[in-house]
Amino acid sequence: MGELGLFGLPFSEEFGGAGADFLSLCLAIEEVSRADAGVGITLEAAVCLGAAPIHDFGTREQKEKWLPDLLAGRGMWSFGLTEPEAGSDAGATKTRAELVDGSWVVNGAKQFITNCGTKISAGVTVTAVSGKGAKGQPEISAIMVPTGTAGYHVLESYRKLGWHSSDTHPLSFEDCRVPEGNLLGERGGGYRQFLHTLLGGRIAIAALAVGLAQACLDASLSYAKERRTFGVPISKHQAIQFKLADMAMETELARTMVYRAATEYEHNGESTSEEVRMHAAMCKLFASETSKRAADQAVQIHGGYGFMEDYPVARYWRDVKVNEIGEGTSEVQRMLIARLLGC
Ligand SMILES: Cc1cc2nc3c(=O)[nH]c(=O)nc-3n(C[C@H](O)[C@H](O)[C@H](O)COP(=O)(O)OP(=O)(O)OC[C@H]3O[C@@H](n4cnc5c(N)ncnc54)[C@H](O)[C@@H]3O)c2cc1C
Repeated sequence: MGELGLFGLPFSEEFGGAGADFLSLCLAIEEVSRADAGVGITLEAAVCLGAAPIHDFGTREQKEKWLPDLLAGRGMWSFGLTEPEAGSDAGATKTRAELVDGSWVVNGAKQFITNCGTKISAGVTVTAVSGKGAKGQPEISAIMVPTGTAGYHVLESYRKLGWHSSDTHPLSFEDCRVPEGNLLGERGGGYRQFLHTLLGGRIAIAALAVGLAQACLDASLSYAKERRTFGVPISKHQAIQFKLADMAMETELARTMVYRAATEYEHNGESTSEEVRMHAAMCKLFASETSKRAADQAVQIHGGYGFMEDYPVARYWRDVKVNEIGEGTSEVQRMLIARLLGC
């Protein structure tokens, strides 16, 4: 993917990017995920959660130091937001960062972090409480911690239901010291930054779900034309045809929603446009649920073979569930949509 330039797609050429747009990235994620969603999420997380915050909020020095390797795919950066007691409620962060003698000293734990334990994992940006805001609320800042920093531990990888080709670990930080200059963006800006990061991430992960739904349709259609029961290919049975028709229609609808949100994000992403936030949440929710229905029907169309590893649909079925969880659960998307409706 690095050699194809996929990691640099939506970034400026100044730092080694391809100067393409956000929609181009979504197209790449969709196509990669059509083959393997675990590889798709590796690309999505490296670009949207790892490199994008450095590109969007980093100083010139930080960008020059890190982006060329990340955009070329020689390194991957991670995004450490989720904690054992702070997932959907990400503002409940307990990890702390204290400024001591010109260094940030980080203590705490993160969990379910993608791309942090590979041979090319270059570092992680963690959100941490760095003090108190004007009204006594926790001040959350984003701190960049390079791989190999003393006190930064990447713990044993999880055994996951799906996304087996994706790298996911818990992290711990024990008096982990990084230079003051590793603050990303302004002090106290961590909350705003991760909301912005997750906005793009949501659209991109919806593209992943579209790719997976398309893979389910591809596999099911081809199997249905070959498998014969009662003297005809099962694609001639109306019950199978209706499943395929629904899969095709819903996949196309999800794709259209993703492309619209990606285009709006490209032009209005920096703004607080309610329309962008609404369409991002809607496409993430709809694409996740569409791909889950598609994987379920794909296994059904394959009958007993669908339950075996001989066909890819068993893997699609395992891979698809997490779309309803990562980068904001389906419940959180519904909450966001309802809030934007004025509830
Ligand atoms: C494979 C994988 C990779 C991941 N990669 C990363 C990563 O790279 N970086 C990162 O920071 N995080 C990552 N995550 C974490 C992911 O974003 C969180 O798992 C997700 O946000 C949900 O948080 P949680 O798991 O703590 O669930 P919880 O927040 O504990 O939620 C549990 C359940 O309660 C529901 N719920 C919670 N609050 C409400 C509410 N107010 N109303 C109604 N229902 C509610 C949720 O929808 C969910 O169904 C990853 C997760 C997975 C599984």
